[in-house]
Amino acid sequence: MKFATRAIHAGIEPDPSTGAVMTPIYQTSTYAQTSPGEHKGYEYARTQNPTRSVLEKNLAALENGTDAICFSSGLAAQDAVIKLLSAGDEVLAVNDLYGGSYRQMVRVWGQWGLKSRFIDMYTAANVENEISPATKLIWIETPTNPMLNIVDIAAVCAIARKHGILTCVDNTFASPYLQNPLDLGADIVLHSATKYIGGHSDVVHGALIVKDAGLAQRLHFLQNACGAVPGPQDCFLILRGIKTLHLRVQRACENAAVIAQYLAEHPKVGKVYWPGFPMHPGHEIAKKQMRMFGGMVAFDLKSNSLEDATKVMSSTELFTLAESLGGVESLIGHPASMTHASIPREDRLKVGLTDTLIRLSVGVEDVEDLLEDLDNALSGI
Ligand SMILES: *Cc1c(COP(=O)(O)O)cnc(C)c1O
Repeated sequence: MKFATRAIHAGIEPDPSTGAVMTPIYQTSTYAQTSPGEHKGYEYARTQNPTRSVLEKNLAALENGTDAICFSSGLAAQDAVIKLLSAGDEVLAVNDLYGGSYRQMVRVWGQWGLKSRFIDMYTAANVENEISPATKLIWIETPTNPMLNIVDIAAVCAIARKHGILTCVDNTFASPYLQNPLDLGADIVLHSATKYIGGHSDVVHGALIVKDAGLAQRLHFLQNACGAVPGPQDCFLILRGIKTLHLRVQRACENAAVIAQYLAEHPKVGKVYWPGFPMHPGHEIAKKQMRMFGGMVAFDLKSNSLEDATKVMSSTELFTLAESLGGVESLIGHPASMTHASIPREDRLKVGLTDTLIRLSVGVEDVEDLLEDLDNALSGI
């Protein structure tokens, strides 16, 4: 089955008890047993919930995996991956990543004896040089947040495999419609389904997808043992969002391409970060591993003035100033003070994340209205 068909049908059958076409929200914490230990596969809702089971089957199919494990947020999903490790182990993570991912690794897991190093992964060979005997997990995010750098998933996963190191790819920015890391050799795919997968800015949710039965079993164990599970209503909302994932992401990518081009030609705009530009250093790899170039665009102003950047971000009307991304509505954000404030300033500057960088999550509105909105905001500086 092709992606669009899987998005709508994979794992989804009319409800066996009523024929309901939409997956019911099983709002229950427990299930009746006929005699002790005799039940229909559902005992207690932290462990299993039918709405969640349908979503897990659907997500597994979207990433060409065998199992998906759902969590109450993307960071709860990350928490489960890190719990596969032990004190003294080391994570090698890409040096430009979601601020909350960095914060959890350094400030939470650091206290428990986990070491995290944040390295340049944009040349895969560099990863090989950085591997130490303690390295047990390689953490890839691509495109990266917010600089939109590209990591060669196949090349880095091949190196990891050679050294027996687990790989996890945070695929949030691409969505399963654009990029499928398991096909490129990754062990685990992570999604903050809060973003493109949910797609309507109305739910926080996370998921892991794998294709190895042993790994699936260990992660299902952690899901149940630690308990950061999503509620059935949230699972329903994610299932509903997925039905239009391919349509939304395609339109967002088309709109982002037009906006990136417009910004690149604007006299007041400095650097524009978008992997679709042929001169982007990761362009050829993006072309190889992604179906389109994504709906995220970041840019600097030529003036490099925080006052100007603040003025632009405060004066758009369709682009709402807010954290998050991947919804149908366009958002504008300031990584230095919002999504990435938890990363030390000198580390931010090292990867080019300036105090004036502006990040756009391009939505699915009419692109002409979006251009006009940006044009008005930029003419004010
Ligand atoms: C938002 C985000 C996360 C965290 O997900 P939550 O659902 O907010 O916990 C992780 N990675 C990336 C790339 C994100 O954008």
